[in-house]
Amino acid sequence: MTKKDLYRQILERYKEIVVLENIQGLANWDMEVCMPKNGVEQRSEGLALLSGLIHDRWVAPEIGTLLTDIKQQPDYEELSTIEQRNIYLIQREYDKRTKIPKELVTTLAKQRTIATKDWKEAKAKADFSIFQPSLEKMVELIKQRAQYLDPDKHPYDVLLDNYEPGLSMKIIDQLFNQLKEGLIPLIQKCISAPNQPDLSLIKRKCPIDVQQKLAADVVKVINYQLDAGRIDEAAHPFTGGYYNDVRITTHYSTEDFSNGFLAVLHEGGHGLYEQNMPENYKYQPIGSACSSGFHEAQARFIENVIGRSLEFWGFYLPRLKKITGNIFADVELQPFVHALNRVSPSPIRIAADPVTYSLHIILRYEIEKDLITDQCSIDELPQIWNQKMKDYLDIEVKNDAEGILQDTHWAWGLFGYFSNYALGNIYDGQLLWKMEQEMPSWRKVLQKGKISKIIDWLITNIHKQGNRYDPLELVKEITGKELSTKYYLDYLETKYSDLYQF
Ligand code: ZN
Repeated sequence: MTKKDLYRQILERYKEIVVLENIQGLANWDMEVCMPKNGVEQRSEGLALLSGLIHDRWVAPEIGTLLTDIKQQPDYEELSTIEQRNIYLIQREYDKRTKIPKELVTTLAKQRTIATKDWKEAKAKADFSIFQPSLEKMVELIKQRAQYLDPDKHPYDVLLDNYEPGLSMKIIDQLFNQLKEGLIPLIQKCISAPNQPDLSLIKRKCPIDVQQKLAADVVKVINYQLDAGRIDEAAHPFTGGYYNDVRITTHYSTEDFSNGFLAVLHEGGHGLYEQNMPENYKYQPIGSACSSGFHEAQARFIENVIGRSLEFWGFYLPRLKKITGNIFADVELQPFVHALNRVSPSPIRIAADPVTYSLHIILRYEIEKDLITDQCSIDELPQIWNQKMKDYLDIEVKNDAEGILQDTHWAWGLFGYFSNYALGNIYDGQLLWKMEQEMPSWRKVLQKGKISKIIDWLITNIHKQGNRYDPLELVKEITGKELSTKYYLDYLETKYSDLYQF
């Protein structure tokens, strides 16, 4: 077979996997959005079979043979950079899936079910000791998994690299320490400033049908395509899909429209990324997102940088007033935007504002790192957690349910994942800095409602790059600089000193 034949065959196999994954995504979406309650068992059967089929396709020996054969072709180097990147990405995933013995994959899947059940019970009873034994087992299995993936590398580095390729403890330690040093005093300045926001400007009863109208309006404003997507409701908002069918979800609260509204912008940011992937590379690895951190960065850019800005509300507040009737008739721009940007430390990560949010992540990162490197024992965790909450956010955690047991990630074995959320914020700071260089008038542009210009900048510079580069390379490619927290911290300092007037 020629190099071209081999390449075509590899991509054909990859396309089938993507198609199967799309069906899997749709079945998951349906389960979260509209499946009847009694459908759970049938759906689990279907999903288990599908993930088995997808796994079998990934580990098929034929893929291994095709990859070896193509690399042995004397003219392999003549493949374009893009073709070689596709081969590299498929090899990377193939290695990840084949290096782990099937027995460990099965044990992990079973442990996930046990740990999730124990976690739910422990959280309901606010008692960490119920979750402790299954968490211990999970940490052991995750360490074994890291060992199989790369025995020569530090296990936590293996886990970090698994979710955000190229990132390591050395890099993240430095970034997160800088972030911590910048954020803790900034939060103090915000909460002790005399000029505090008036939350009654946003916390007003707003019927769900009115909020649905707002959602349908604002997705049009950000250029999310409704003929290639849709908005539904889910308990925990999420986005799923591929190119021409990318669906977002939100969760409305009748007491505070901003929860559902900002979730629409957040998920809309994820949705825009998927809808604007490079069309020429559909069904190829390169035609997918760069990383989960970059995905988060797209969502947070739309939600926080755009959706919580004075300029956005400069043009959107009149529209909000029109759509919501007399609910917000009396509010004025500046105090309204200040209320949307309130800084208020909370024990719960998912309820955190953009300034305190990264500290919730840093705390989890530090604990995970100590756990995986055996720097602390599992029974000490609640105490370590509570102490860090006190040190970083000055919060007294009342019980394990609002402390160490609040997230499901560890029951799922997702160690090394949390850091992506804060990395997304750091990426955003640097992307915004670059956008400002290229479009110094972006705030004026936004204020006039010409948001398309900003979305187009994101599409050209980020979305259309697909998975051409690993995240740190992509940051460098776009901004010309190494990743740094400076830009994000500068952005926050300027924004919040204006809002709180310090
Ligand atoms: Zn997100």
